[in-house]
Amino acid sequence: MTEWFNETLYKDIAQRFAVAKVIFRERTGHQDLVIFENPVLGRILALDGVIQTTEGDEFIYHEMLTHVPILAHGRARRVLIVGGGDGGMAREALKHRALERVTMVEIDRGVVDLCATHIPSIGAAAFKNPRLDLVIADGAAFVKSCDDWFDVIIIDSTDPQGPGAVLFTREFYQDCKRCLTPGGILVTQNGVPFLQPDELRGTAARLRGLFADTAFYVAAVPSYYGGFMAFGWGSDSSDARRVAPDELARRFAAAAIDTRYYTPALHVGSFALPRFIERLTGG
Ligand code: SAM
Repeated sequence: MTEWFNETLYKDIAQRFAVAKVIFRERTGHQDLVIFENPVLGRILALDGVIQTTEGDEFIYHEMLTHVPILAHGRARRVLIVGGGDGGMAREALKHRALERVTMVEIDRGVVDLCATHIPSIGAAAFKNPRLDLVIADGAAFVKSCDDWFDVIIIDSTDPQGPGAVLFTREFYQDCKRCLTPGGILVTQNGVPFLQPDELRGTAARLRGLFADTAFYVAAVPSYYGGFMAFGWGSDSSDARRVAPDELARRFAAAAIDTRYYTPALHVGSFALPRFIERLTGG
């Protein structure tokens, strides 16, 4: 008799995953955490009933939220990741040897420790990297009191519920902007527009009031049900999003990074939005 994990993100539509084995389950200080094995996607992390990352398709999401802003920036030396407890975002960012430091601010020590132990393939190596500064704190409180600076800020949060809700506010984006260097870039995990249109609409309005250049780009991540996932983009540099394809290709070759999803051509193409998503962004 197959046991199933039924995702509870949406009220009227849901996906389920066969549970070959429950690896670990506990209520951490912040959220209900479960790590289980699925025959198709490998080990899966879920928080508060919502799929966060899977061994099978995490590379898509982590590559697109790191290499797009870092290669677009071209001279990044310091990156801030808010969230990212599984370590996958830090793993991809740290592939850029030109980065002096990656600071990762994760609210739940339990996610870091349990993912490093039970899904080591995603981020365990990152946690041992001397260029990683791991801070266990609320990302919103961190940027509010932060007197450090970053060239790229990546919001790798849960959905806007529970501890993640504060990471979708204008105040938080404003505090992030204050921590960005001139020409710096903020990118956000912004849900699946087909099923979470308000999340996109809300971020578009908040970013537009803060940055000279706001945009969204997309990628389809199989375990984030509903089609394209959107990533928010905010920067006061109008050039960063318009780097010529051959320059992106040069930077990508110079970085000598091994990817399974990201390519410079896909980077450029990912900003071409389906009309219904453009409309949601007010574009
Ligand atoms: N890929 C996933 C997605 O798109 O939903 C995100 C994965 S990552 C595991 C999300 C992380 O955000 C979790 O580790 C969670 O603990 C962390 N998080 C949630 N709220 C936070 C906050 N206010 N400050 C810092 N980290 C937070």
